[in-house]
Amino acid sequence: MRRYDYDLLTIGAGSGGVRASRLAGAAGARVAVAEDRQLGGTCVNLGCIPKKLLVYAAHLREDLEDAAGYGWSVPPASFDWPALIANKDRELARLALIYGRLLGDAGVDVIDGRARVVDPHTVEVAGRSITAERILIATGGWPDLPDLPGVELAITSNEAFHLKTLPRRVAVVGAGYIGVEFAGIFHGLGARTTLLGRGRGLLRGFDDDLRVFLAEQLAEKGLDLRFHAPVRAIERLGDDLRVDYGDGQHLLVDAVLLATGRRPNTAGLGLTEAGVALTERGAVVVDDHFCSSVPSIFAIGDVTDQLALTPVAIVHGAAFAQRHFGAPAAPLPDLTLAPTAVFSQPPLAAVGLSEHDARRQYGAVHVYQSAFRPLKNTLSGRRERTFMKLIVDPVSDRVLGVHMVGVDAPEIIQSLAVALRCGATKAQFDGTLALHPTAAEEFVTMRHRRAPTDADR
Ligand code: FAD
Ligand code: NDP
Repeated sequence: MRRYDYDLLTIGAGSGGVRASRLAGAAGARVAVAEDRQLGGTCVNLGCIPKKLLVYAAHLREDLEDAAGYGWSVPPASFDWPALIANKDRELARLALIYGRLLGDAGVDVIDGRARVVDPHTVEVAGRSITAERILIATGGWPDLPDLPGVELAITSNEAFHLKTLPRRVAVVGAGYIGVEFAGIFHGLGARTTLLGRGRGLLRGFDDDLRVFLAEQLAEKGLDLRFHAPVRAIERLGDDLRVDYGDGQHLLVDAVLLATGRRPNTAGLGLTEAGVALTERGAVVVDDHFCSSVPSIFAIGDVTDQLALTPVAIVHGAAFAQRHFGAPAAPLPDLTLAPTAVFSQPPLAAVGLSEHDARRQYGAVHVYQSAFRPLKNTLSGRRERTFMKLIVDPVSDRVLGVHMVGVDAPEIIQSLAVALRCGATKAQFDGTLALHPTAAEEFVTMRHRRAPTDADR
């Protein structure tokens, strides 16, 4: 008789949990996955995919405006938020079915309900006790809300995807990935949008030149960016929400979106009681093989509080399945070279080191940069500009960082991430033939170093 019901019980059918479960199941393990919301997790249902669909919708306004310069006469356009949300939901339902099918094809049992770890080999789901040789925690993250009077009046990105109507005036609190992306969505779709950042700029951690350049582009489009503007309180005043921020300033809006970070989703999961060590932020502490302080309990993805990106959760899941269930080889890529993008308008993307981090690690660095108006914006008259920057180690000539704000930046940076992974040098960038006319060709034609700045002296 088998000792446990399953070889693997995964909690959470998101990016990481689905990948680990599918690969382990396909490798012959007896696997179940417990999920209390939708299959596919955050990325598919409340993250990357619906976000990008809304970004496309927002961007179409600019395309419609630009068409006139190219000879098109477009009748006055109107926008229908409920239609967009209904179409998006239809697409997500299709994706959830595909995820269910992929799990079924790999022989994985899907258990509907909220799971709780009872002991190192037992999980309770919807009143049912299930045992497994290994338990995999893949429960992702959850919005981390500030302790603020009136916080319950605000929404997070979770609710933003299901608003019944598009608010007329929105305050977005937080200047990170979600704040910048949603401010762009709301603004692009026609809401009067104010982004309130508590620091001195957008997107702390990205290259400073990119941060400043993107803020200029967004402000130029009419997005109201306010920095050094920590929110103090939210209050309902009739139909309005009043947001108090900074030193005595306030805004009246119809919706407040809090985008103030996410934290590992381990509350109420029974992990501490089962002996699993958690960090102060509630992340599961794991070793290089995703093993927690309890030898039969493992964790992958956002719940480990590493780089919170879908491809990271996916490679975690694949590496876990390989190591513990003999799934096909899945080497863990070097996460210091993880490409990343913010789907603002224009988008921002980067791979490798920012200038600041490169100087800290390498001392002197060479910087090449370029700012220009893309060809497409000539006939349309759009003022949006593109910015590109390369950081080079003068000793080895290796390119340490590639950064871009501009149309198609995420697509371009994804390809250049391969070059950086191969250790490409500036000479190799220079020796690559340009593809003309593109914006990306600028990365292989930048010959002149930026004039020395204070940082170079
Ligand atoms: P998740 O995908 O979060 O999956 C966890 C699953 O566990 C969920 O389905 C949840 O319901 C389930 N669960 C939790 N607790 C329990 C329980 N007790 N019992 C049963 N089930 C449970 N990343 C990118 O790379 N690119 C992007 O463009 C991008 N955009 C994003 C936009 C937004 C608005 C957000 C919020 C995130 C975005 N991300 C993006 C991040 C990305 O979504 C996450 O990094 C990724 O989903 C993490 O995968 P995961 O498997 O760790 O967890
Ligand atoms: P981020 O960590 O990116 O940004 C959080 C923002 O909120 C920062 O500007 C931070 O300011 C600010 N903040 C934090 N606490 C407060 C507070 N109390 N009051 C006011 N502002 C506050 O988190 P997000 O929620 O935007 O996204 C979470 C993660 O999800 C991202 O880090 C990313 O890994 C992932 N994600 C990825 C996307 C992509 O790949 N395109 C898109 C969306 C999410 P400060 O800088 O001063 O700390």
